[in-house]
Amino acid sequence: MKLRIDDISAEGREISFAESEQEINRILGRGTLPEYFVKGPLQVSLSYYRAGTEVFISGTLDAATTAACSRCAEEFDLQSRRSFRYVLAPKVTANDEDFALRAEDLEFSYYQGEEVDLTPLVREQVLLALAERPLCREECRGLCPHCGANLNQGDCGCKVGSADPRLAVLRTLKIAR
Ligand SMILES: [Zn+2]
Ligand SMILES: [Zn+2]
Repeated sequence: MKLRIDDISAEGREISFAESEQEINRILGRGTLPEYFVKGPLQVSLSYYRAGTEVFISGTLDAATTAACSRCAEEFDLQSRRSFRYVLAPKVTANDEDFALRAEDLEFSYYQGEEVDLTPLVREQVLLALAERPLCREECRGLCPHCGANLNQGDCGCKVGSADPRLAVLRTLKIAR
């Protein structure tokens, strides 16, 4: 999705659009966040306006993903939503000291030529929206380290499968006696 600078007014405007998920799935699958797969187009709502040469954008992003739980490896559906803002300046000022300082700010970016390309900004926000270690649920019990059984589906029967260190201490005390 691109916005023509000439079409961006000081009054501001709102738009909604869908951005293809194909490229972001390629990026995720390449090892960035391989636990995720985006199931359909990314839904983006934006409001934007221009002040001089700078473009101000704020919006929300919705992504429907399938994630593999980092504890039990089960796949589950995850709806991610993220709000974001950007200030974009023309790239002509790229050598300015001011620009270098502001470029460290996550919310600052630039546009080149006559258009603002929203696609890379949307992709950046998707990556920020996805947690590094997805969990199917907060209390996921994960896999038994001994037999690999999914402990969410019940106890596997392994004697030393307990993750509670206090119980482990009790056990060694009993053995020592
Ligand atoms: Zn899990
Ligand atoms: Zn087990």
